[in-house]
Amino acid sequence: MKHLGIRAKLTLSYAATIALVLVVIGGVLFHLMTLRLDHAVNERLKELSTGLWGHMEFRNGEPTLSNEPEDYFVRIAARWSQLYDAENGRLLAESEESRLLHATLSPGEAKRTTAKPTFDELASEGVQFRFYSTVYRAEQHPYLLRVGVPLVQVRAARQELIRTLLLIFPPSVLLAGLAGRWMAGNALKPVEELRIAAHQIGISRLDRRLPLRGTRDELDGLAKTFNQVFARLEEAVGNMKQFTASISHELRTPLAALQGEAEVVLMRPQTPEEYRRVLTSQLEEFHKLNRLTNRLLELAMAEAGEIQLENRTFDIAALLHSMCEQMEPIAASQHVSLEARWTEPIQLVGDPHWLERAILNLLDNAIKFTPEGGKVCAEATSQGNFVQVEISDTGTGIPQEALPHIYERFYRVDDSRSRQGVGLGLAIVKWIIEAHHGTIQVKSEVGAGSHFTILLPLTSKAHAATAD
Ligand code: ADP
Repeated sequence: MKHLGIRAKLTLSYAATIALVLVVIGGVLFHLMTLRLDHAVNERLKELSTGLWGHMEFRNGEPTLSNEPEDYFVRIAARWSQLYDAENGRLLAESEESRLLHATLSPGEAKRTTAKPTFDELASEGVQFRFYSTVYRAEQHPYLLRVGVPLVQVRAARQELIRTLLLIFPPSVLLAGLAGRWMAGNALKPVEELRIAAHQIGISRLDRRLPLRGTRDELDGLAKTFNQVFARLEEAVGNMKQFTASISHELRTPLAALQGEAEVVLMRPQTPEEYRRVLTSQLEEFHKLNRLTNRLLELAMAEAGEIQLENRTFDIAALLHSMCEQMEPIAASQHVSLEARWTEPIQLVGDPHWLERAILNLLDNAIKFTPEGGKVCAEATSQGNFVQVEISDTGTGIPQEALPHIYERFYRVDDSRSRQGVGLGLAIVKWIIEAHHGTIQVKSEVGAGSHFTILLPLTSKAHAATAD
């Protein structure tokens, strides 16, 4: 049964259920019919007994049948009858058939029966008989009258019922099995269609979907859920493909530049100044490549949930202030003023190291994208159970159409300044903020500047969430 298909199992279950129902119904019918027939026979015997007694006459203890023996009722009633003296059990009269049947009671049996009149049965030459014994009084004397009937009809009726049931049973079970098979086949047809459709979906064909029949049944629900899973897989695989393509692109360009530069320099001897110039420029590229690979590694670890975040209580306002102090020389070198608005201490539970990374990335971007004479502001304010960290600049701003993409890996707005970065900074910032159960939002206007707002809960514990 374990290895049978659903269709075979349903077929067998149907057939077994119908067989069971038929057996139960047959049993109940047989039992009811037996009770009814038994009752009818007993009533008939009582009728015969009282009728026969009514036709009897006693003269000085001698019984005679008052009516002429041709009377049909008397003939039937008296056919298997015996009359006993109820006091001593002596047989007074007996019909011819009763004698042939050897149905006569001994005086002892007759006396016992007198004490407790009842029905009894006996079989003779394959025929079952039932007798009814009753005590009547005539001339102040008790008599035991015993009348009987053969149970041939009862037996025949029972056999007929059994025969009918046996006749109905096999075709009904067969029919139920066939109907079950047909219904199971019908019900499983869409499953087979789903199986074939699912078979055609592979990693290179993730755009395919399972067919929906519009029946809104369980199978349609299942297909819908699978389609949602396929859609998510398609998106994830698409992202991975794009990610891989972006990495190759990011690595290929600087490597090709480094190779080309080195080949040109080696073509003929150069002055020590020329070698110094080329090596210095190459060192810059190496730094960039180093930064890129470090950030990629960081993101990969974040995605794999391998970064363990600390949960320490620290003053985020003080942290922001010290970040600004740290960035001050860089801002000054680009003639950008950096202002950290001092507020009261704000205690936050989280990982100071990673939050420092996030704030540094935002400050670095703000300074990088703000032209000379511009201004960058940083401020932390407490908002109930949250802290709000704002970093704003009066820089180049981000075009509206670029805003939804700035947290994507390798995304850079296409201008010369953006080309200097690797496009991974904001992806890491977003991961850090979300790992702290916070949110990050940006408002920006081209030519006017950008305003990043981070909202962090003060007490919820950071956990190593996976990046998008
Ligand atoms: P990158 O390492 O190139 O700076 P990021 O992920 O940090 O990459 O930022 C993605 C892009 O978003 C940047 O290339 C830049 O175009 C834009 N951007 C981020 N911050 C600012 C900002 N403060 N002002 C203007 N543009 C910004």
